Amino acid sequence: MIHPGREDLRPISHCGGSQVTYDEYPMLPVEEARARILARFQPLEPEVIPILEALDRVLAEDVYAEMDIPPLTNTAMDGYALRAEDTARASAEHPVRLKIVADLAAGYVLERPVQAGEAVRIMTGAPMPAGADAVAPFEQVEIEGDEVLIFKPYPQWKNVRHAGEDVQKGQLVLSRGTVLRPQEIGMLAALGRPTARVHRRPRVAVLSTGDEVIDVTDPWQPGKIRDANSYSVSALILKYGGIPLRLGIAPDTIDALTAKIREALDLGADFILTSGGVSMGDFDVVKKVLAAEGEMHFWRARMKPGKPMAFGEIQGVPLLGLPGNPVSSMISFELFARPAILTMLGKKKLEKPVVDAILVDPIKRKDNRRHYLRVWLEEKDGQRLAHLTGDQGSGILLSMVRAHGLAMIPESLNSTPPHFPVKVMILDWPEVA
Ligand code: AMP
Ligand code: MG
Repeated sequence: MIHPGREDLRPISHCGGSQVTYDEYPMLPVEEARARILARFQPLEPEVIPILEALDRVLAEDVYAEMDIPPLTNTAMDGYALRAEDTARASAEHPVRLKIVADLAAGYVLERPVQAGEAVRIMTGAPMPAGADAVAPFEQVEIEGDEVLIFKPYPQWKNVRHAGEDVQKGQLVLSRGTVLRPQEIGMLAALGRPTARVHRRPRVAVLSTGDEVIDVTDPWQPGKIRDANSYSVSALILKYGGIPLRLGIAPDTIDALTAKIREALDLGADFILTSGGVSMGDFDVVKKVLAAEGEMHFWRARMKPGKPMAFGEIQGVPLLGLPGNPVSSMISFELFARPAILTMLGKKKLEKPVVDAILVDPIKRKDNRRHYLRVWLEEKDGQRLAHLTGDQGSGILLSMVRAHGLAMIPESLNSTPPHFPVKVMILDWPEVA
């Protein structure tokens, strides 16, 4: 071995006497691996937080209106509140003259009722005075002294907004399970609710493994590579609504990994994500660490990039071991960790959007796995075209940097001709496509 003094790093086939081969671990279809993982997750308990912090969170309560919106019948226009019946005989030649008896701004209530032959100068949003049942807008009237001239009949309730026309007292306005968008946040404010009861955000521990892995802030040394994964994974956690708990890098030893996982548990992690060390040689480290305190499964998913995957739990906290290659870890996150995080947030829609596209480049392969090819999209002559983003190796992070989505090539296809129709899972919508 190239790791002097690291007894724990002997290949798995030398551990415990029996010969263990890679093939003993089942190769699961992506959907089955996903279903087995998601079976371990449920929405987290609710918390009550200020509504602006609740953007993109999921309501854990039904919200009923405690009063009408708008609360009072009010004018939709700046103009003159009047009695509609007073205008019945008005015409351009014979305008009706009404006496202006008051001036009413929005935010105030006029106690004095409007009598026959009277009008009140009124601003948009001001409550209609008693007796008035229509509004003549400024631009349709003329003023002479203390009188307003009305040139046409106004039907009852013309330019008037009724109390409760948006929301009625007692109405169920937002139901449990609603994802709060800006319009829902505005509605909560309109309903007089400064806080909302929402599922709390999952705390997701992130750690990278590997003797060769160093942090972006460490000076570079020969033989080492910079830790891309804990950053891309932390960013994905943030993007989908979780709270990353960054635990740094564990060298490939049982002690180091154990210490990091204990740290994650002490921090109250709801989910632990590791990267690297899930291929055959390293997997034993993860398994040994977790066997001591929890339960560990190891699978392979019938996909590329990404294939080896460790999943299990430790003291009741699920742990997903992502592959070490930077593209594999990101794609495995999108397929398996993302829906788990969304489930904890209380979300029901777990799929990324999928669109039809024409894959311009031909492909050839022979491994019967589902391929997730990184593509960029463009709209051309009414067609959505997908182009490979270059070298598709699982260590080629630039293939993700250039990608709008993942073209999914079914397991059954070993080659596709140029301009082949495919489904593309959108990672981020491009500006045009
Ligand atoms: P492993 O799954 O640990 O065998 O790692 C597979 C490949 O991914 C190796 O070339 C590693 O050096 C690389 N790798 C592992 N962890 C990281 C990381 N955090 N950032 C970038 N590359 C990594
Ligand atoms: Mg490794």
